[in-house]
Amino acid sequence: MKLAMIGFGQAGGKIVDRFLDYDDRTNSGIVRAALAVNSAKADLMGLERIPQENRVLIGQARVKGHGVGADNELGAEIAEEDIDEVQNAIDAIPTHEVDAFLIVAGMGGGTGSGGAPVLAKHLKRIYTIPVYGLGVLPGTDEGGIYTLNAARSFQTFVREVDNLLVFDNDSWRQTGESVESGYGQINEEIVRRFGILFGAGEVTGNQDVAESVVDSSEIINTLSGGGVSTVGFASEGVELNSSGGLLSRFTGDDGGADDLDAANTTNRITSLVRKAALGRLTLPCEIEGTERALLVVSGPPEYLNRKGIERGRKWLEEETGSMEVRGGDYPQKVPEVSSAILLSGVTNVPRIKRLQQVAIEAQDNMDDIQAESEENLEELVEDDEDELEPLF
Ligand code: GDP
Repeated sequence: MKLAMIGFGQAGGKIVDRFLDYDDRTNSGIVRAALAVNSAKADLMGLERIPQENRVLIGQARVKGHGVGADNELGAEIAEEDIDEVQNAIDAIPTHEVDAFLIVAGMGGGTGSGGAPVLAKHLKRIYTIPVYGLGVLPGTDEGGIYTLNAARSFQTFVREVDNLLVFDNDSWRQTGESVESGYGQINEEIVRRFGILFGAGEVTGNQDVAESVVDSSEIINTLSGGGVSTVGFASEGVELNSSGGLLSRFTGDDGGADDLDAANTTNRITSLVRKAALGRLTLPCEIEGTERALLVVSGPPEYLNRKGIERGRKWLEEETGSMEVRGGDYPQKVPEVSSAILLSGVTNVPRIKRLQQVAIEAQDNMDDIQAESEENLEELVEDDEDELEPLF
């Protein structure tokens, strides 16, 4: 499906930048337009792919291009004040060719955390197409203020979008890496997972036509009804043979009988589906109780075994208890077969409950510290017997 992507704040901008790169590399055609909105000029300048005219600096009157410094209330305020500037940039993109908006933001910071929900509310009032959010949760080691920001942004963002797709930095953090190179890999993971899902509904003329195509209405239906979504993913390589064609490790291409191969492919696909659902999700959660799901199996067409996909889909129905599990294939000329699963309307998410608990503790601590420091300052400034008078 074709998306208008808006990266709000630094993380949001960087991720949309990566989506443009992914789109070029894979020819998936999902990014119809890309915008970046930020209150920090330097962050906008650091972007590589998003066209200059689509970079919107907000809050200049208040923060002079220096950002809001993790103050997400200020982030929300300046987004509201300068919403017309964002709208002007959106007016310049062909929204009639777009199936949905996707607002991307890190929820732990300031500009994106506060601004993304404001923009979602605004867009929903104006447009009839869906407005989705892609919200990134901070790592647990980032500290109290980031957790508190994320918890408050999450509550607001979910309410304002048609569906909030969540990616949890904490589950993807790798030890012993610099933050920047770590984010590089994490951002690749984000664009691959969401890219395959959204790309499935955008099979173009020069790609092989899928056997049972996933179209954008199926993605929209899976996301409709609102709530929170997570994505599972698993892939397996298929090797190239000496003549450059694809040879199968996947089908066990050892010259055996065709029906044996077919059975093997079916089983491999079914186990890829299980791996994707039971492995690391973008937001860790219990999959039982998921309201709706979409399974996309992608890879070279000869490996997209319809029976395997159908079996995988049925298995997902049983595991989630959902009556609304859609499935289809997405042919791509890449040397791997992959299974991407969108689980929409998940409600059993211990990670969010923990986040909220830590956020409340951080909030209480901050209130205590502030009250204490006011007292301490007064004690310092006032003389003991109150004999001195201030000048005015
Ligand atoms: P903002 O510019 O004020 O909106 O704040 P940032 O976007 O810089 O940071 C918000 C949060 O996003 C941080 O707490 C990190 O958890 C996360 N973050 C920052 N940069 C990246 C990135 O490149 N990728 C990912 N996945 N997360 C990031």
